[in-house]
Amino acid sequence: MIQVLEPATAGVMAEVPRAGVEEADAAVEAARSAFPAWRALAPSERSAVLRGLADALDSHVEELAVLEARNAGKPIGDARGEMGMVVETFRYYAGAPERLAGKTIPVAGGVDMTFREPLGVVALITPWNFPLTIASWKVAPALAAGNTVVLKPAELTPLTSIELERIALEAGLPEGVLNVVAGPGSVCGQRLVEHPDVAKVAFTGSTEVGRGIAAAAAGTIKRVTLELGGKSANVVFADADLEAAAEAAPSAVFGNAGQDCCARSRILVERPVLDAFMERLEAAVGRIVVGDPLDESTSMGPLISAGHRDKVAGYVPDDAPVAFRGRAPDGPGFWFAPTVLCPVGNDDRPAREEIFGPVACVIPFDGEEEGVRLANDTIYGLSGSVWTRDGARALRVARAIDTGVVSINSNTSVRVATPFGGFKQSGLGRELGPDALEHYTELKNVYYATG
Ligand code: NAP
Ligand code: MG
Repeated sequence: MIQVLEPATAGVMAEVPRAGVEEADAAVEAARSAFPAWRALAPSERSAVLRGLADALDSHVEELAVLEARNAGKPIGDARGEMGMVVETFRYYAGAPERLAGKTIPVAGGVDMTFREPLGVVALITPWNFPLTIASWKVAPALAAGNTVVLKPAELTPLTSIELERIALEAGLPEGVLNVVAGPGSVCGQRLVEHPDVAKVAFTGSTEVGRGIAAAAAGTIKRVTLELGGKSANVVFADADLEAAAEAAPSAVFGNAGQDCCARSRILVERPVLDAFMERLEAAVGRIVVGDPLDESTSMGPLISAGHRDKVAGYVPDDAPVAFRGRAPDGPGFWFAPTVLCPVGNDDRPAREEIFGPVACVIPFDGEEEGVRLANDTIYGLSGSVWTRDGARALRVARAIDTGVVSINSNTSVRVATPFGGFKQSGLGRELGPDALEHYTELKNVYYATG
């Protein structure tokens, strides 16, 4: 059995069966058997099933939010917002089956047309930081495109994914179309990646594990999409609305206790406004309330595990340049106070590695050219922000930053209808929006001779 912990108390909140190789194989077999009928459903019928699933999830938002808040240690208000996005994601892709149109192409001697065909069985492997949200970004487009699914949630946070399977069956998703296996990545996940009957792996997690998955998938030439780590820059120019930039900066790195692949954990501040920005940032960080995820006034919860807390603490040794820190409760949960380091050099270890915890690095810079250079001086390329009142500069810098998403005068990265994904070692492929569907289909070309 897997003992599922509640990070705020370090207590066991549930036990679930631990899936291994045998369970992974059984899930793939169930998905393989369900594929022909699911694929053959009329697009309008597949659409109706997915709309029904979205409605069913909508009616369970509150209980799912409480489960996610407790298991992942996130503030209940945030968890509600995430469950809202899960519902919205299923609604969005419920409209897709009837829009997966091909093209006709003018050629000599006949008619040439393209079709978007489903891949077959797809394995979806998800992390513990946004468990059901990230699952929905994969499950919804995969099913909409006519695939059947094996979903492997992270062992630390399997509960809402298990609920998703239950709710889906209740809502009328045919048996075998969605199969959830909760088990360790190195056993259950690895088996899915190597399984000859799995056509594609969609993975979200660390760059390190992603590398191994890409290598293992090569054995059977599986399609692979990867959403990996980040070390995103929040570039604040001297001409920015400093109040707004400083007010928005904390949630962009302390949101979800910093366990966010899009965290703007490198705050690049143009030197002339460094002091003014830091003063405002300190006030904003002072307003963060770290505590019980189920308390409505909490804005930051604990870290996911004791091991992860120790890893994060390793980035803040005694001689670290701590400018200021917030407050956090004492044990027994896995607490860590929001911490701001300043000044940090872009070559320093906390600025190079993904900490995945509530530690912000403030890096002073001089001028636009240096700002862009430092923003890009990383192996990652997921997100980023530009704060300036100069519209031309905003677009110039947004285009020059090598990341999949850049926001101007905002720190948001994710919207259901727009593409999300990484440049460089932050990943391969895109999720959300219409683009995600391409990664769950093969392009078929049919030529009909008319001569
Ligand atoms: P992780 O350690 O890479 O694990 C992610 C998933 O992969 C888990 O389900 C894990 O299972 C599984 N796994 C581990 N080894 C595997 C293997 N050999 N074969 C198949 N599956 C395997 O990541 P995490 O610690 O859960 O999450 C944190 C990381 O995710 C951070 O680096 C973060 O940046 C990244 N992330 C990226 C995005 C994005 O969209 N780009 C979003 C969120 C998070 P078990 O944990 O059950 O063993
Ligand atoms: Mg991990």
